Amino acid sequence: CGIVGFVGTSTRDGSGTPGAGAPEGCAVVLDGLRRLEYRGYDSAGIAVLDADGGLAVRKRAGKLANLVGLLEAEALPPSTTAIGHTRWATHGGPTDANAHPHVDAAGRLAVIHNGIVENFAALKAELVADGVPFTSETDTEVVAHLLAAAHERTKDLTEAMLEVCRRLEGAFTLLAVHADQPGTIVGARRNSPLVVGLGEGANYLGSDVAAFIAHTREAMELGQDQVVTITADDVAVRGFDGEPTTGRRFHVDWDA
Ligand code: GLU
Repeated sequence: CGIVGFVGTSTRDGSGTPGAGAPEGCAVVLDGLRRLEYRGYDSAGIAVLDADGGLAVRKRAGKLANLVGLLEAEALPPSTTAIGHTRWATHGGPTDANAHPHVDAAGRLAVIHNGIVENFAALKAELVADGVPFTSETDTEVVAHLLAAAHERTKDLTEAMLEVCRRLEGAFTLLAVHADQPGTIVGARRNSPLVVGLGEGANYLGSDVAAFIAHTREAMELGQDQVVTITADDVAVRGFDGEPTTGRRFHVDWDA
């Protein structure tokens, strides 16, 4: 339902702890999720990549207050790469296990998803036959496992996303992070919106501009069947065919 992504600048290059006074991943994403609450949702979750090359996820059914309570009990490590989701359940009830982000079996990759993967049943049957363990009832979880397998082959999250998107049918906005690629978020969209927020030493992703309006008013709307790769200082767009392209730049001038 609601999607937020943030990559900021770290003390070291690529990954790590936020520099002095620099925004912190979990805080930025939580704020973005609050600004998307108006859309309605039944669960919420956040994934961050930490300074030690690890992936950490916290998620809870119910209001954002439930997630905040969990974060107070089990704080996420400081990070400069974070993604967050508020879910409106379509496949699988509103439970902690079905909340996004969904992770791969190795716990190295996390994905969030708006929309419906129409052909998830066939993809899931294939993965289950290969012995992949599922931990939720969502259509989304197939994407986590497919991305992990493609990443294993390609060693690149953008290439993995391009491969997987070509296999998916339906409507989706996806964001993914991989612990092997700190400082990077890869997004994709088909029949569902995705907007990039262009900041100074930071870039953002959102299902709408409300996700990042507190930080930047420079934005880029992704076109149909496009994949975007963001770091703190770069935004690269490719079509599902792999060809480099670009989105539509615009300035947000309404009040937050
Ligand atoms: N189909 C996914 C699910 O049920 C995503 C729903 C949404 O857009 O929030 O988990």
